[in-house]
Parts: sequence; C-alpha cells; structure tokens
Amino acid sequence: MGPTLGNGLAKGKPFFSDSGFASQRRGGNWVMSGARILYVEDNFDNRLLVRRVLEVEGFSVAEAMDGPSGLEKAKESPPDLILLDINLPDIDGYELAGRFRQLPSLKGVPIIAVTANVMKGDRERVLAAGCDGYIPKPIDVDKLPEQVRAALSKA
Ligand code: MN
Repeated sequence: MGPTLGNGLAKGKPFFSDSGFASQRRGGNWVMSGARILYVEDNFDNRLLVRRVLEVEGFSVAEAMDGPSGLEKAKESPPDLILLDINLPDIDGYELAGRFRQLPSLKGVPIIAVTANVMKGDRERVLAAGCDGYIPKPIDVDKLPEQVRAALSKA
C-alpha cells in the first residue's frame, strides 16, 4: 500500500491532540506535526492554500483575517507558531508583530512574516518589528512544510 493522502497517518504521524505538539516525543525527536499554527491573512486564497498544505502535514491551522481577530485568537489559545501576513487592513503586520510580542503568553512563540515585500531592507524591517523570520510570497507549497518545521524547531 502506498502513501495515503489526506492525513499523515500513513507516515506514522500522530493525530493532533489538544495537549499540543511538544508533549509528543519519539526516538529523541520532537514530533511537530501536531503543532498549532495561527495564520493571520486577509486573502482568502492564501488562507485556503496554507491550511490545505499544512493540514495534510498534520499541523492544526487557525485563521484570522485581520489584526484584531488575530490578537483575540492568540490570547484565547496561544499557538505554537504564528504566520503573519504583512499587508493587512487596519493594523499592518509590522504593528501586529509588536503587539503579539507584548503578550506574555506568546513568549518564545515564533512569528514568521509571510510577505511579498522582499526588497532590500524588508527582511530587516520584519525582524525589527519582532518577527523571527519570513517566508516570501508567492508561497511555495513544496517548501512551506519544511519552512514551518524549521521555524518550530528553533522555538
Ligand atoms: Mn494581505
């Protein structure tokens, strides 16, 4: 029987549990497939794409379409990682990163900017705003799971 699409079980990955990914350790490696990702993004297509790609990998994805709802969701249930669009209505991603950083419950939670702004100086600007790194748009679906795992492993 070949690999099964739709969930990670065929590859031996666990179901997501509410206890979070960090409680699952196998063979000395943290199993991160159940990590909870909060994705703040106003573009529907991007939210759909990221959700689909990450859920197939076993991640749990919560979405927020603007800054205020992102803050609310992060306070309500602190995620293991935040993916943050920079160009948002109302509060932009730079401002929002700073506000996330002020929440004690998000201490140590990586914030990764997802942005088409990849001009000189933009990387420095997202880092200065409180992000830990960035993923360029357009999102490369083949690279995204590895980019997310890399960010989680540094948490
Ligand atoms: Mn946007």
